[in-house]
Amino acid sequence: MELKDRNKFEELKATGRLPSPKGVALALINLTQQEDFTASEVTHVVQSDPALAGRLLKLANSSRQGLSRPVVSLSQAVMLLGIPMVRNVALGLSLLTENMEGVCKSFDFQRFWSRSLASAISNQWLGYRAQTAADETFTCGLLSQVGRLALAILFPQEYSEVLDEAAGKPVAELLKLEQGRFAIDHRHLTSALLQDWGLPPLFVEAVFHHEAPEEAEFEEGSRPYLITHSLHFSAYLGEICQLSEEARRRMLPRLYVLGARLGMDADAVNLLSDQVVAEWRDWGTILQVQTHDLPPFAEMAAAMPAVPTVLGGKQQFPLRVLVVDDSPAILALLEKLLTDIGHAVRTAVNGQDGLSKALEWQPQLIITDWVMPEMDGLALCKALRESRAGRMMYLIILTVLEDEEKLVEAFEAGADDYIVKPFSERALKARLRAGQRVVQLQEEILLEREDVRRSAAELAVTNQRLLEAALTDSLTQLPNRRYGLERFDEEWAASGRHESPLSCMLLDIDRFKQINDTHGHDAGDAVLRQSATLIRKAIRKEDVVCRLGGEEFLVICPAADLKSTALAAERLRLAFEKAAFDFPGGSLKLTASIGVASRDANLPGPEALLKIADQALYTAKQAGRNRVVVYSRKAPSPPAKEKN
Ligand code: GH3
Ligand code: MG
Ligand code: MG
Repeated sequence: MELKDRNKFEELKATGRLPSPKGVALALINLTQQEDFTASEVTHVVQSDPALAGRLLKLANSSRQGLSRPVVSLSQAVMLLGIPMVRNVALGLSLLTENMEGVCKSFDFQRFWSRSLASAISNQWLGYRAQTAADETFTCGLLSQVGRLALAILFPQEYSEVLDEAAGKPVAELLKLEQGRFAIDHRHLTSALLQDWGLPPLFVEAVFHHEAPEEAEFEEGSRPYLITHSLHFSAYLGEICQLSEEARRRMLPRLYVLGARLGMDADAVNLLSDQVVAEWRDWGTILQVQTHDLPPFAEMAAAMPAVPTVLGGKQQFPLRVLVVDDSPAILALLEKLLTDIGHAVRTAVNGQDGLSKALEWQPQLIITDWVMPEMDGLALCKALRESRAGRMMYLIILTVLEDEEKLVEAFEAGADDYIVKPFSERALKARLRAGQRVVQLQEEILLEREDVRRSAAELAVTNQRLLEAALTDSLTQLPNRRYGLERFDEEWAASGRHESPLSCMLLDIDRFKQINDTHGHDAGDAVLRQSATLIRKAIRKEDVVCRLGGEEFLVICPAADLKSTALAAERLRLAFEKAAFDFPGGSLKLTASIGVASRDANLPGPEALLKIADQALYTAKQAGRNRVVVYSRKAPSPPAKEKN
């Protein structure tokens, strides 16, 4: 956050009128900030607020599939939810009950909380679904727009005017007006508040971007990406829950597109949304927040309009535009031109790059150069036209010559229009307007339910595949380095929360290079695949193995201490020693060296743990390989002891 916003926030905070947690929630926040609090102390504090206790029990029982018996005791609920979640929920609910009404005329407090509540529940479900459930999902959904509430409380009169002025306009407009009037906008204020209340930076950042997630440019499939898009989806669903039938029908198609970005097809979106509505109704009764019944989403989807609604011709219609060119100068020029007139722009450096970005990001319009390395513009047009998603995109090809033969070729490949290089700004804008009209018409037609369903399903499959591909090693099908390290961070955090041990093994095959040199690279690959299977079989169900790179594997052992991990490592080493590895044309024997380490109070973070495991592995190699070395703080234990 910029200093200007930080200063402004401190100034607002000093007024003492910013929304803030009270009573038990405040006590919980203070308690959990201390060094040595216990779960029973937390339970004790919660008990003093029966309403909160009831809500936590409800939360522990809802959203938890596969739980055979209901949770009835508060301490059990606190255990199940985990202390950070208890703290966060108390915070969110305290803000809710304290700020149910206010005097800002054009800010509907009831509607705000009703929408936020639906978002919170949706976000919680999305977390479970993607197995990224974190202690923050519910509360982040609930408080993702708390900056709006703060402005309504701080400046009731002026904010009412701002809201009137921004009514019906895009969020960007509201943000601008807020900045102009209050020198801070609601999303900066939201982030500052969440940060102040101790939510982790990853979530604060996701909340900051969730109203316009494409701006953030998080890497597709990364955790920040998923968290931000989940919040975006949840906010949108929350809004849908507030609408009249008529307005809902207009907004519904986009819900499926947003769901698809998270890898959900239409059925999954319907299922999730119905569950959210059911719980929203429940929670509404408990918290005295207005809610109302909605028909099943599948039913609403079936009634989506087949006849396109007519959008005003004049109104601004910003597009997602992908520019593909191997010349950095042209990319920069087009990016600036297009951004200046309000379009969202991404760039790609050749046809291949363009194709994958197009399938991922789903631009509405593509401007592509003709002659490029790897894959040229014509091939790109053809490839896109063969995919269902790409059929809808408006394709403009850049060409040097206005040669009739060439143009026919371009149109046959599927281009919609062309621009001759060098081009003038006017000509470009004229072509864009033509494209815009077509895209706009197509979007309206896309409202037709069959198309929406089908393209969303296609997008969902593509995205799911991309997500998986991004986290899987293609040779061994094990989780890859990126997944492994992220997971290691998570396990580190969990072990801190539950005060349970965390250990790891770093395994490296001995003299692997010789296998490649003697039997060929294919034999090496076959050995790596069998090694992956062997490790997977040898470890416990709750351990996680990933390929860190080359012939090096990381095994994460949650809740395992150093001693048991060392024993497991020794078993694994023996398994390698005993196994025969087959490759086309033969079979070979090999050994592996393993470094073992456990979390202790001296280690600042997961990187440090990995580093000492690596030191132990290095010692094992130095000492002659085919052995397990356990890291110990004084000196790595003598390797002779490890081998028996
Ligand atoms: P040490 O016992 O010290 O670990 O020796 P090493 O030969 O196993 O280790 P080194 O790091 O020198 O060599 C690893 C080799 O692994 C080098 C690289 O060519 C090979 N390699 C890395 N990735 C792959 C792969 O995906 N397939 C195959 N076949 N070989 C790979
Ligand atoms: Mg090796
Ligand atoms: Mg190596």
